[in-house]
Amino acid sequence: MRQLIAGNWKMNGLTTQASAIAGPLRAAAGDPIGLTCDLLVCPPFTQLLTVAQALAGSPIAVGGQDCHTAPHGAHTGDISAPMLRDAGATWVILGHSERRQNHAETDELVREKVVAATDAGLTQIVCVGETADQRASGQETEVVGWQLAGSLPKPFTGVVAYEPVWAIGTGKTATEQDVAIMHAFIRDELVRQFGEAGRGVRILYGGSVNPANAATLLAVPEVGGALVGGASLKPEDFLAIARAARIASEAGGG
Ligand code: PEP
Repeated sequence: MRQLIAGNWKMNGLTTQASAIAGPLRAAAGDPIGLTCDLLVCPPFTQLLTVAQALAGSPIAVGGQDCHTAPHGAHTGDISAPMLRDAGATWVILGHSERRQNHAETDELVREKVVAATDAGLTQIVCVGETADQRASGQETEVVGWQLAGSLPKPFTGVVAYEPVWAIGTGKTATEQDVAIMHAFIRDELVRQFGEAGRGVRILYGGSVNPANAATLLAVPEVGGALVGGASLKPEDFLAIARAARIASEAGGG
């Protein structure tokens, strides 16, 4: 399976910066001997249309960072899944830990958003991951197991991203062993929840992935790609991670 390298731009950049990132990505993706992974960028809502237009006709997909459960209605400040589609998105990140923490998103709400995104034709990246305290008290698999059970509807056709909260934006990455153990656990849980279909779900790793650690992390068994925050804002770093994905796939990772 091709690895997926997805960039989460979070709440960063104005339209001019969006074009400055999208341009080099488009040029690199057009190189026939270049990348063999799938590429996705998830800009803020205000930049979606610009980025989608800049990448139209390229192999790089565009996604949102959240959506509402309803297709339309009296929800001031929210954006619906059909609106993301309308702006050119084909993917959406859901249940990111910053949404779970800053907006009190529960597993149930995330599950409803996954259903709404599916109905609108968006592929979802559903994020799960434990906090530092939960890991320190040995609860990491239990927490992630509950998140998977609560956040994923049946059937589920999206992607799961394992993002330990303590590794996001901190420069701390999980060790290869931590990642291997958790990804194997997530695979088992997906098979338990969805049977054979659970074997085909891509599981991304996210948390301070950068060009220096990407090849190692992407070569871990059951790692099907990366969800990249900070490093996705620098096209040269994001592309270096994408090239590491190619090497990791050739080495048997993912
Ligand atoms: C993220 O926000 O999904 C993320 C992984 O961020 P960073 O790469 O900056 O840790």
